[in-house]
Amino acid sequence: MTTSDLLAGDPRMLIDGELLATAGGATFDVIHPATEEVAGQATDGTTDDMARAVAAARRAFDSTGWSRDVEFRYHCLTQLHTALERNKERLRRIVVTEVGVPVGITQSQIDAPVEEVAHWAEFGKSFEYLRDTGVHDSMGGPSRRMIHYDPIGVVGAITPWNAPFYLNVAETTPALMAGNTVILKPAQLTPWSGSELGRIVAEETDFPAGVFNVVTSDANEVGAALSADPRVDMITFTGSTATGRAVLAAGASTVKRTMLELGGKSAHIVLDDADLTKALPMAATLACIASGQSCVLPSRILLPRSRYDEGLAILKATMDAFPVGDPWDPTVMQGPQISAGQRDKVLGLIASGIASGARLITGGGTPEKLNRGYYVQATLLADVDPDSRIAQEEVFGPVLCVLPFDTEDEAIAIANNSIYGLSGEVSSADEDRALRVAQRLRTGSVGINGGMYFGLTSPFGGTKQSGLGRRNGTHGFEEYLEIKTVGLPL
Ligand code: ADP
Repeated sequence: MTTSDLLAGDPRMLIDGELLATAGGATFDVIHPATEEVAGQATDGTTDDMARAVAAARRAFDSTGWSRDVEFRYHCLTQLHTALERNKERLRRIVVTEVGVPVGITQSQIDAPVEEVAHWAEFGKSFEYLRDTGVHDSMGGPSRRMIHYDPIGVVGAITPWNAPFYLNVAETTPALMAGNTVILKPAQLTPWSGSELGRIVAEETDFPAGVFNVVTSDANEVGAALSADPRVDMITFTGSTATGRAVLAAGASTVKRTMLELGGKSAHIVLDDADLTKALPMAATLACIASGQSCVLPSRILLPRSRYDEGLAILKATMDAFPVGDPWDPTVMQGPQISAGQRDKVLGLIASGIASGARLITGGGTPEKLNRGYYVQATLLADVDPDSRIAQEEVFGPVLCVLPFDTEDEAIAIANNSIYGLSGEVSSADEDRALRVAQRLRTGSVGINGGMYFGLTSPFGGTKQSGLGRRNGTHGFEEYLEIKTVGLPL
């Protein structure tokens, strides 16, 4: 592929079954991050548009059979899965265009989420929504109890730009299959992954009007309006911790259920018996792939002092050889950062790290050969102060901080010295030892010796300020359901 494969998504929003532009006709530009050129426009929706979308979702929930008809929901989700299969290559080009993610690593951004739709359709079809739990003793004598799993109602889904199509699917399809109605508010930088989903739902499926709505906008206030609207019962949000706090506060006055998947500053503890030649090339790869724009990235590498220089050399070798460049080249694995603002934020944090005493081992600036696009060099910083900004703030760039330790207890303390608790990694030749360390990490997930913890059948989410609730697994589906206990006389 070449940059001539740039593809603009549908500029229209989906509100109450209609694909439309905003009343004022306002649009905003979508930029291809690898060339800085304008790839096209999206509709700049307003708070009035959002209010109409919420009203439509409310009406569809309250006065249609959607929330009670599992078979029909299965039909619509299965149709959506087939339609997404048909549109897959178009969606891939749109995601590369608006995110700048290398086409060679779009499996997780496109193919996996398309399959996820089928997964939730099947999961929701066989889920036991009504459970007879038998006879229970109670104050007034024994009674029979049923548990109903009911949809929550109107769900607002607010998504970020790093994996927009995946997160649009992951936040909305379990909610829909559980019987809720949904308003999706995609990120400003990546509106098309959302508007295309809206177009496909409107043109290629039988979803009733109002069940699924998409409002694109360049203004944060439109997302804020969704999270504050009293007609919305739940918000599912993925994004920064700062915005997550605002979303939680906005929902407080109507006690909205709020599911948050926020930032991370995950640590990889490399114990002194680990095979560094296995653990560290992978650690460096995770930092660079997709430009480090991943919330689960283990961005703090904790190396034992006894193997510190050996470890730094391996990390540097992998980072220096990492294939960075044009995201349309299938051999490239690191593209640009999403925007000039993100690039400057990453460069600013690197500078702050150096100012606080970190030693620059490689990178630190923008690649010489790439003079357009928002690229940042793969950057390795050693001797990082565990309390410095670069060790505490999420960088969201191709940057690794290396911190030395002497004892296992010290490593665990450094790893847990964070407001975040999303994930972590432990490497050791002794799996039991690694498991003991993993148990003491205050995070939602841990991988041992590269073991993968993420997948549709296991719960995923953050502790501390990395989030609330869990996506995936049975937990992830039940987040979109309310539990009602019904008592019957014997
Ligand atoms: P970033 O800072 O990395 O751009 P954000 O966490 O701000 O990421 O954005 C994630 C999503 O939250 C986007 O869809 C954005 O439009 C939305 N958003 C931004 N501000 C607010 C807000 N105050 N309330 C609700 N949503 C918001």
